[in-house]
Amino acid sequence: MKALVYTGIKTLEMREVPDPIPGEDEVLVRVEAAGICGSDMHAWLGHDERRPAPLILGHEVAGTIASGPRRGQRVTVNPLATCGTCPACREGRDNLCPDRQIISMPPREGGFAELIRSPERNLVALPDDVPAAVACLAEPLACSWHALKLAHRTLFRPPRRVLILGGGAIGFGAALAARAMGSQDIAIVEPNPARRQHLAQIEGFPVLERAPDDQPPDLVIDAAGFAATRQVASDLVRPGGLILHIGLGQATDGLNIRRMTLQEITFIGTYTYTRQDFRDCAEAIFDGRLGRCDWSQGRALADGAAAFADIRENLVAAPKVILLP
Ligand SMILES: [Zn+2]
Ligand SMILES: [Zn+2]
Repeated sequence: MKALVYTGIKTLEMREVPDPIPGEDEVLVRVEAAGICGSDMHAWLGHDERRPAPLILGHEVAGTIASGPRRGQRVTVNPLATCGTCPACREGRDNLCPDRQIISMPPREGGFAELIRSPERNLVALPDDVPAAVACLAEPLACSWHALKLAHRTLFRPPRRVLILGGGAIGFGAALAARAMGSQDIAIVEPNPARRQHLAQIEGFPVLERAPDDQPPDLVIDAAGFAATRQVASDLVRPGGLILHIGLGQATDGLNIRRMTLQEITFIGTYTYTRQDFRDCAEAIFDGRLGRCDWSQGRALADGAAAFADIRENLVAAPKVILLP
């Protein structure tokens, strides 16, 4: 098959590689759309020792089953493979499984290719009218969906005022999930002016250059994850409020721990989604609760190297670029 292979820092090459061989309880999926995630960018920059070159990146995949009894069925792929038997898996927090694997990280190759292998139970069937370009957003949107689920569990009600730092797919998806779950006052902060303008035209959320300091939010979602954004989050959230931290920008620094202590602010780190969240989020995409989900930009898989470079140079206004084999 053809695949876009990460071969070294900032280098991607289209190569002919052997087709993947499905293991027990696995099938082949012919890829029709695969999104570029911030974590793919991170790997491409050589900043992720969990993803050494040569490797096929990409874990946001939709396509058609190409082997076994369900052959021909259109699906979106939950890329997290978990053991199903450990304490985390048994209590429904399978995203914390110590044996979790994700496609695009060894030993599993990713979705910037014509074919992937996947456990069959990770495949969610698509309604006929949902295109692959929409369905592949289930993965990033499930991260946002899961985060909002955690917020509801912690606050016992929909947060009234929600401030989101970062307007990529996760931040924008968090706005969509917050709205779907009952919040009404939702704003996004995004520093890139082209993306700001673009986002403001999609679903009508206010998209601001910087966070307003006179309207304390109940919930701040840090979808960037830098010291500077954590500083904003912990300075602005209202007393008794919640910070959800999804971004992986910088590992340490920025939190105003004294204020968080004196004002009883809750901080939750959140990563990926449970199996149930992934399915629930896919349903919400299919039935329109998350809007039209037509805001990604498609590029040919063969032009993937240029797409990565453009994202790096801030030349892409869309919150998500997807590669089409
Ligand atoms: Zn991702
Ligand atoms: Zn497990």
